[in-house]
Amino acid sequence: FQREIIQSEKLAVVGQLAAATAHEIRNPLTSIKGFLQLFEHRFKVEQGNAEIREYTRIMVEEVDRMEKIIRDFLLMTKPSDVTRERADLNGVIERLLVLVQNQATLRNINVVTDLAELPTVLMHKEAIQQVLLNLMQNAFEAMNITGTLTIHTRVEGKYVIASIQDTGIGMTEEEVANLGSPFYSTKTEGTGLGLTVSSKIIREHGGILDVQSTKGQGTTITVKLPK
Ligand code: ADP
Ligand code: MG
Repeated sequence: FQREIIQSEKLAVVGQLAAATAHEIRNPLTSIKGFLQLFEHRFKVEQGNAEIREYTRIMVEEVDRMEKIIRDFLLMTKPSDVTRERADLNGVIERLLVLVQNQATLRNINVVTDLAELPTVLMHKEAIQQVLLNLMQNAFEAMNITGTLTIHTRVEGKYVIASIQDTGIGMTEEEVANLGSPFYSTKTEGTGLGLTVSSKIIREHGGILDVQSTKGQGTTITVKLPK
C-alpha cells in the first residue's frame, strides 16, 4: 500500500494551547524526577526497603517516558525554517549511520547504502537529521532482530530523494492510513509522534514524505526534498 504521509488536521485543532501546556508541564516534571532520583539514591546507600526502591525506579522510568512524549510533541510545534542552509543530504545520512551502527550491530541488522551524487539541498540540517533518525529508528523497531536496512539516494525531476527501506513487519492498508496521526502507535513504548513531526518538517521544506508497505515483507519510506 502506498500513500503520502500528511500531518493530520487534528494537530491544528490541538494547536498552540497544547504546546504551551506541554511546555509548562516540563518544569514540575523535572523537579519530580530530581526528587525521585534522590529517593532512589538514598534507598541505595541506606539499604532501604527494596520494594519501595523498586517503585521509585519505576516512577523515574515513567517520568522519563512523559519527558519523551513532551520532547517529541514540542518538536512538532517548533518552526523549522529558521536556520536553513545548503547542505549535502548524503553527508547527513553518513553521520547518522555512524550513530546508529551500534544499534544495527546489536540487532544483527545489515545496513546497505547506495548513495548517488546529489546537488545540495536548502535545509534545516538538525530537523532533516531528526526526520531521518526517526525513520531509521522505526525501521530498526520494525525488524527487531535481523534484517536489512537499505538507504538509497537519487535525483528525480526537481527532487533529491532519500529512501529508507526495511525488511520488517510491514503494515496493512489500515495501518498505513493511520500514519501521521498524532499519538498513533502500535508500540508499547511508542509516542506516535515520530512521523507526525517528520511529515511536518518535510512539508515545511516543500517536500513530500511517501510510504510504501507490504504486511509481512517490509516498508519503504521516501523523503523527497526540492533541489
Ligand atoms: P512510534 O515509533 O513512537 O510508534 P511513529 O510516528 O514513529 O511513532 O510511528 C507510528 C507507527 O507507524 C508505529 O507505531 C508503527 O506501527 C508504524 N510504523 C512506522 N514506521 C514503520 C515501519 N518502518 N515498519 C512498520 N511499521 C511502521
Ligand atoms: Mg517512531
